[in-house]
Amino acid sequence: MVLATLVIMWLTGLASLRITLAELETRAEANLAVQTAVLERLLDKFRLLSPLLARGPDIGQLISGDDAPADPGIAAVAAGMSGAEEVWLMDLTGKVIVSSQDGIPAGSIGGSTTIPQAFEQAKQGQLGRQLIPGTPGEPSNYVFASPLRRNGQLVGVLAVRVSLEDVEQAWALSKDPLLALDDDGRVVVTNIPDWRGQPWTGLNSGGDIAQLSFVGRLELLLPTTAAADNFMQLKANLPVLGWEVRTLVNIEDARQRSGWAMLVALLVCVIAAGGIWFLIVRREEFTRQERRNRAAALRLERTVQSRTAELRKANVLLEQEVKEREQAEANLRLTQAELVQAAKLATLGRMSAALSHEYNQPLAAIRSDAEIAGMLIERGRAGEAQTNLTRIGGMVDRMAEIAKTLKGFTRKSGTDIKPVSLRQVIDEAMLLLQPQIKQSEVKLDLSLPDEDIIVKGGRIRLEQVVINLLSNALDAVGTCAAPEVRMSLHVEKTEAVLSVSDNGPGIDADALPQIFDPFFTTKDVGAGLGLGLSIAYKIVHDFSGSLKAANREEGGAQFIMRLPKADKRMLAAE
Ligand code: ADP
Repeated sequence: MVLATLVIMWLTGLASLRITLAELETRAEANLAVQTAVLERLLDKFRLLSPLLARGPDIGQLISGDDAPADPGIAAVAAGMSGAEEVWLMDLTGKVIVSSQDGIPAGSIGGSTTIPQAFEQAKQGQLGRQLIPGTPGEPSNYVFASPLRRNGQLVGVLAVRVSLEDVEQAWALSKDPLLALDDDGRVVVTNIPDWRGQPWTGLNSGGDIAQLSFVGRLELLLPTTAAADNFMQLKANLPVLGWEVRTLVNIEDARQRSGWAMLVALLVCVIAAGGIWFLIVRREEFTRQERRNRAAALRLERTVQSRTAELRKANVLLEQEVKEREQAEANLRLTQAELVQAAKLATLGRMSAALSHEYNQPLAAIRSDAEIAGMLIERGRAGEAQTNLTRIGGMVDRMAEIAKTLKGFTRKSGTDIKPVSLRQVIDEAMLLLQPQIKQSEVKLDLSLPDEDIIVKGGRIRLEQVVINLLSNALDAVGTCAAPEVRMSLHVEKTEAVLSVSDNGPGIDADALPQIFDPFFTTKDVGAGLGLGLSIAYKIVHDFSGSLKAANREEGGAQFIMRLPKADKRMLAAE
């Protein structure tokens, strides 16, 4: 990256320098062409002036002095009109006879050191030309000289002095140094007055610009001083005069710009390198992260595999356990079924024993009564046989009663359930039990709500329940001194609650769990079948209710029957 940055910087600097230098060169070339043209045009203009003036008819007279003197002001007019600095008319010795300026220069100008070359050239009939080199304080002048003839005779020389100051003034507008060198290599015209009149090599000692070495058109200064290193030199030739116009262009700016370009390139490179570095670091981080992720995924996969294996094992164990449980359940069900079967058989056994007892006894009695009645009728004592027959009738009735009671078990549960008025049920039960109540002299306490309560069930069967509970209570208080039976009815939430309690001996703790079993009875044979409570229990459960027995704290037993109330929909349907 460092190497690439260096190469890019170098290339950028070089390119920038090349481009800027090319621009500078183009600009300098244009400037040089324009400024050279300014000088050329000026000299061209005055090149023609002296021959033209010399040809004028009156001019010769001024020199010879033969005739009436011509107007010496003509020279001033010519100079003024053309813009020349000075116009001189000289005799053949070079002495100025007429001048456009006030004072006539003393001595021989043509013959002296002032313009000897131009004077000679004019005397030989050519256009004389001579440079009057300037000094740092004075601009250079250029002189054109033409022969003056009168009647074909050479009588003098006309010279036009042109100041090159105008050119310098035009050049002064150019910011780059401009200089015209004559064929001697001396600075003739320049926009830097100090250089004027100096030989070009002499500028070395001036310390400003070094000795120049030219290479083709693009002339870079070979550095002999630090300052000279900063200039590019261009030149144009003035072939007519044998002069050379040069311009010096400061290339320090170009160098500086190239330096800035390099700096910008460096900055761009640094930013780009930073970006690339960042990307590389990110990429590395990404790769590392990916490697980590892959490792984590691998670990996870392994964990999952091992867990799966464990789960599979656990599953197998579970399946085994389930099978064992199912087996155990099946065994349990089997055992339960066996138990039920056993219970059924036991119940059947108990029932058969009770039934055979219940039936055998009256059957034996009927048989003996029948035999006695038969014997009595045989002996002609039919009247006496009547008693036996009546007893037989009673016992048949009792057997019929047992059969009727047993029918309670055969009824199907849940059939013909209707709204039933509990008040009506209680009233009818009371009516049926009236003789028994009267006989036992029991104090019956009845507490019923004002409003009737309607429940779901069957009226006759519910009467059977109430009669059973009441008659049991009456039986229980049979031996009491102050027998008391209480029956109450009230509503709890959605249930009707009927309670029958007495102040009898209560139920034995041993007997309590089996009190609702069929054929469970503590009463004497013949007095009770042990079916009443079990039938009542079945009836109440058939109507979705419950029947519970308990002993009261103050003595005696209490039976509580709960039945769901009939809702309005049922009543409306009814
Ligand atoms: P049964 O009345 O023919 O004996 P039940 O099924 O009606 O048959 O009653 C079973 C037994 O419950 C009775 O023999 C009696 O021991 C007991 N029992 C029922 N009601 C009462 C009560 N109010 N007080 C004490 N014991 C009772």
